[in-house]
Amino acid sequence: MNAPGIVSFSSRINPRFSVLIVYKEALNYAIVREKLTELDNSVGAILVGANVIIMDGERIQEEGLNDFHLLAIEAHEIAHDMLGHEGERNQTHEDEADELGIKILDLLKRKEAADLLRERMKSSR
Ligand SMILES: [Zn+2]
Repeated sequence: MNAPGIVSFSSRINPRFSVLIVYKEALNYAIVREKLTELDNSVGAILVGANVIIMDGERIQEEGLNDFHLLAIEAHEIAHDMLGHEGERNQTHEDEADELGIKILDLLKRKEAADLLRERMKSSR
């Protein structure tokens, strides 16, 4: 099933999660961009409990993010879900999701993506 402006695939981290990359051609793109921007200017977010990760395809292009970045975002968002993070975004949750995301990526031998999360943690300190 495909909607215009939306690319979807099963997460390479855990196929029980779907990744939806939303581009400006999608009907609800403006809402997606607005919500993600509100969420600390994020490129991606997870609908906790729904096993769906949403990413802003335009931001991915604007910022020149590659597949390692996408994997890092997937791992980070799945970590939020595994940790049961809900409600207000906060730095403790962000650090915990980065830490677990790094462990997951290391286990999967996805070194480049794990290193991106390590860099992100360093720069947030
Ligand atoms: Zn996060």
